[in-house]
Amino acid sequence: MLNQLSEELKINPAKTRPNIGSYWITTFGCQMNKADSERMAGTLESMGYQKAEAELEADLILYNTCTIRDNAEQKVYSYLGRQAKRKHNSPHLKLVIAGCVAQQEGEALLRRIPELDLVMGPQHINRLETLLNQIDNGQQVVATDENYILEDLTTARRDSKVCAWVNVIYGCNERCTYCVVPSVRGKEQSRLPEAIHLEIERLASLGFKEITLLGQNIDAYGRDLPGIKATGRRENTLTDLLHYIHDIEGIERIRFATSHPRYFTNRLIKACAELPKVCEHFHIPFQSGDNEILKSMGRGYTIEKYKRIISQIRDLMPKASISADVIVAFPGETRSQYQSTLSVIKELGFDQVNTAAYSPRPNTPAAKWGNQISEEIKVERLRELNNLVELTAKRMNERYKNEIHEVLVEGLNPKDQTQLMGRTRTNRLTFFPVQGPKGCFYKPGDLVNVYIETVRPFSLSGTSLK
Ligand code: SF4
Repeated sequence: MLNQLSEELKINPAKTRPNIGSYWITTFGCQMNKADSERMAGTLESMGYQKAEAELEADLILYNTCTIRDNAEQKVYSYLGRQAKRKHNSPHLKLVIAGCVAQQEGEALLRRIPELDLVMGPQHINRLETLLNQIDNGQQVVATDENYILEDLTTARRDSKVCAWVNVIYGCNERCTYCVVPSVRGKEQSRLPEAIHLEIERLASLGFKEITLLGQNIDAYGRDLPGIKATGRRENTLTDLLHYIHDIEGIERIRFATSHPRYFTNRLIKACAELPKVCEHFHIPFQSGDNEILKSMGRGYTIEKYKRIISQIRDLMPKASISADVIVAFPGETRSQYQSTLSVIKELGFDQVNTAAYSPRPNTPAAKWGNQISEEIKVERLRELNNLVELTAKRMNERYKNEIHEVLVEGLNPKDQTQLMGRTRTNRLTFFPVQGPKGCFYKPGDLVNVYIETVRPFSLSGTSLK
């Protein structure tokens, strides 16, 4: 399989066919969805579709959806409604819904929006061409059955030419009581290390400088792969994978997300400190600062364990940046339990925290519990939390002021074309002038030393040294 894959990728990277129309993909939700959309765009282009200039000009509309919270799910229905109306005047229009809402709702979506042609779950991304061929025969297709995700031969159409997402594990076997992911993305499926290595080699040959390894629970990487060492330790872990891909020439930076405190190991922290290309940025959701709430969330760790992980990281990488996810107003959360979450943020100091108020999701245990928190309290706790997160992020960013940091240029600042934008190794968004003080011009993919002059809660500005 892998020899055929490498031969296929080396010989004819992207086979394109005569133009069969235009497509438009709208992506909702997480990095996994963004990576999936890039792969689907690659499939459509290899079939002969071209990216449309605008949504309303496209012959094929694909919504790659998210159901992590109710408002994310509701968003897609308004989009679909507009396109369903459009289809009455343009019967050739193909309407596809992919991703987590597609998986969650399945057949029911055809009843709700009869104009839909294809409903496909995340496990069917690599089968897009086959499924589209089926609808060409006038069928409506629903592909949400459990499916083993084979390695795909298509070349993703990536939005960036510098930074690339690389899926390493699909799905999640955890059972966090608020989370819909296991029921919509299915069981864990790790990709073979050799297939990941091959994809990254290929990205390096195309000039990519930074890769981000992706998984809903990336620390579970390899659990489903064979191989136990004599020591009894698993052979294929995330740490082993980082060592295995580290020496791929051309790649300057390696990142990974999303981590799980329950499985975050010292061995991983040591590897991140030792391996020069692995960036000092860790995204480790803690969700709540209260152990009772963590227990009812089914997270499988205590806040004390979480704090130990952060201090172990900072012992070996004092300048590392830490980001997290937090849910407030989980069923039964008291004012003091909520304040425990605020205390953790004050105590640990996060560079960024993605915040949300609890949203009951279908097929999740917590949605059925009686001790739900009122909308009013949810809004109030979220408002207070966001204020604290912004204050803390600004305080944390002060440490960059008057320092020189290496920035990987990703492109022009969309808001100011006289500026470049990129990220530090600690994932801080940074802006600086296109032309350096000594006349140097920089381009996407360059690693530039920037003297930081201005700090804001979620970004930095400065001047390159040359
Ligand atoms: S680890 Fe928990 S929160 Fe994360 S995707 Fe899995 S079930 Fe959801």
